[in-house]
Amino acid sequence: MTEAAGPGACLGILGGGQLGRMLALAAARLGLRVHVYDPAPGCPAAQVAWRATAAGWDDAAALAAFAASADVVTYEFENIPLGALDAVELLRPLRPSRRSLAASADRLEEKTFLAGLGLATAPFAAVDGPADLPAAIAAAGLPAVLKTRRLGYDGKGQARIDAAAGAAAQLAAIGGGPAILEGFVAFEREASVVAARGLAGAVVAYEPGENLHEAGILRRTTVPARLSPRQRAEAVLIAGRILNALDHVGVMGVELFVTRTGLLVNEIAPRVHNSGHWTQAGCVIDQFEQHVRAVMGWPLGDGRRHADVEMVNLIGSEADAAEALALAADPAVQLHLYGKGEARPGRKMGHVNRLLGPARG
Ligand code: AMP
Repeated sequence: MTEAAGPGACLGILGGGQLGRMLALAAARLGLRVHVYDPAPGCPAAQVAWRATAAGWDDAAALAAFAASADVVTYEFENIPLGALDAVELLRPLRPSRRSLAASADRLEEKTFLAGLGLATAPFAAVDGPADLPAAIAAAGLPAVLKTRRLGYDGKGQARIDAAAGAAAQLAAIGGGPAILEGFVAFEREASVVAARGLAGAVVAYEPGENLHEAGILRRTTVPARLSPRQRAEAVLIAGRILNALDHVGVMGVELFVTRTGLLVNEIAPRVHNSGHWTQAGCVIDQFEQHVRAVMGWPLGDGRRHADVEMVNLIGSEADAAEALALAADPAVQLHLYGKGEARPGRKMGHVNRLLGPARG
């Protein structure tokens, strides 16, 4: 299907966390119907969707019925089991495509793909087991970061390696491999670009945001980022190269390390991204609507920033009722809560977009 799936069409979303929820809300605003698929009944996205299916990733009949009900299927995280994608793709277009997923779900394939495009990354090497460690350490240098190849997020499945002596034990602690060893980047700051590519190939990038992580979890994104005009332009060009190389359709998040010698690509995510939440308060068309527009074949919207914004994640108890009501009393704050039941430590429960003023340089 190349033509747009217009108002009234159904968008299927695989995964029903906060990203799926905010996609569903944006889709509803455009008069689209949303069908969410997630194993957890009552998940954040299901609470706001037209339809929700609570079934396992291996439930072929449920997946087929889900796909049949939708015009286009997208996803909110990159680790959807491959069998589920197969079942969906038999019936409906999956956007972004398998290519975008394959380039980001496995950290070794991701870095290899990025390096193949000529983009700078941290030095890296594959670690399939302890025997690979000496050569990997020689290639990546020390200190280094050992990461599981798949299923790592928010700093999970990662260990910092300062000396060769303890490396085997640290590999065992993150599951024994397959893993990737990356040289530790002494960055000045972290930034990211969230950009979208439409069905016909148009690319719209949001301005780079500056990111602060705590314990591997994004704490804050600020726009404008402290980047030179040249760094900003380079960041946007990097994102465009990646999107075009993948024939990507939808939004993508590109995480960057800003170093004295240039920008390194850390990670790409073929979906809406936590570091793009500021667009809800800083742009006319936010990343969620932009993703919906792209995958449904609509024209992309204007991604220009009209306000300076600081996005802060609300983690664990920070979104409890008393805290949330206090934030709601602040006239400069746009409050987003995800409808998650239990506030476990480290769990993202919501975020705020704090308006800092009209857009400046
Ligand atoms: P990741 O899951 O790869 O995005 O890593 C989470 C965070 O850990 C990053 O945003 C960085 O703050 C830090 N980190 C990851 N890889 C490296 C690296 N090679 N060098 C320095 N810091 C890193």
